[in-house]
Amino acid sequence: MRRWIDVIILIIVIILILPSLIVSIFSKKTDDDSPPSLQKSQEEDDSIRIRESQVDYNEPTITLYDHYSKALESIPLEEYVVGVVAAEMPSTFEMEALKAQAVAARTLAAGKLRSRGGRGCSKYKGADVCSEFIHCQAWIPESQQRKNWGDKYDENSQRIVQAVEETRGYIMTYNDKPIEVFFYSTSNGKTEDVAEVFSASLPYYEVVDSPGEEEAPRYKETFTFTYDQFIKIFNSKYPKSGLSTSNLAERVKILSWTDSGRVRDLMIGDIRVKATEFRILYGLNSTDFSFRFEEGKVYIDTTGYGHGVGMSQLGANAMARQGQEYRDILKHYYRGIDIKILD
Ligand SMILES: [Zn+2]
Repeated sequence: MRRWIDVIILIIVIILILPSLIVSIFSKKTDDDSPPSLQKSQEEDDSIRIRESQVDYNEPTITLYDHYSKALESIPLEEYVVGVVAAEMPSTFEMEALKAQAVAARTLAAGKLRSRGGRGCSKYKGADVCSEFIHCQAWIPESQQRKNWGDKYDENSQRIVQAVEETRGYIMTYNDKPIEVFFYSTSNGKTEDVAEVFSASLPYYEVVDSPGEEEAPRYKETFTFTYDQFIKIFNSKYPKSGLSTSNLAERVKILSWTDSGRVRDLMIGDIRVKATEFRILYGLNSTDFSFRFEEGKVYIDTTGYGHGVGMSQLGANAMARQGQEYRDILKHYYRGIDIKILD
């Protein structure tokens, strides 16, 4: 009798338990290429997490000076960020680059929010930010987005809204405060130290590599001036330069370069000027430039487009194309920062 019971138990073990053991071992091995059902539940988990963060995030309202309508406007922060990304980055860029831009835009705004201890826009009274790209950061209203994109409006707008929604509430912080954000179009292969451009020392700006931008439309450009034009432009700001068409080539000298290979200062005639000033005076793309004097003309060859501090938008796009996520992109260009929900 006892032996019969043992045999029955053994049969039950073989028929019922062993197969399920094998299945469970097998399914662990195939975890890496998860079956569709598992992927779906992962997506559901993620969306729950996103929803949770949206609940936690107390979205502020931002007061914007809209220089198109010349009026102050109060709008939810996330809606404002959509208008900034639409203005600052081509919507055809990689999604992770758009997300990095959204976080950068949100961080800049967060640092200016007067309701959170920021100082607001220094140009327009009563505004947290203005829509002028040379002052706070570019922002365009929906009407302008429609004008820019025409029949691509729905497609482009959807991509930008997605980038903003998927980073909803996130900003870059250092010591728990929003960082001071700088970004620009195209680097020369390296970023610039903030102190070289804005005379401020901020620990999260270092000279880092920014590869993959050689194909960018404005990576290399040459600016051409006649000797007369060159001197006239310079003398408009520095009338005592002592320049003349006969001595020009000998009297234009680069004195030093920054660690990123951009020009730091130059001697033009009797005047010592910073490259950042020289760039503005001649409307150059960047401070990475060199001179050629040929046949009565001054050729200024430039590399990159923008001041070079922080994230290069073309560099961000190149990193995204290599499979990097927006957090990796931001942490590459802004060193030692945290990415947190704005509180
Ligand atoms: Zn402003």
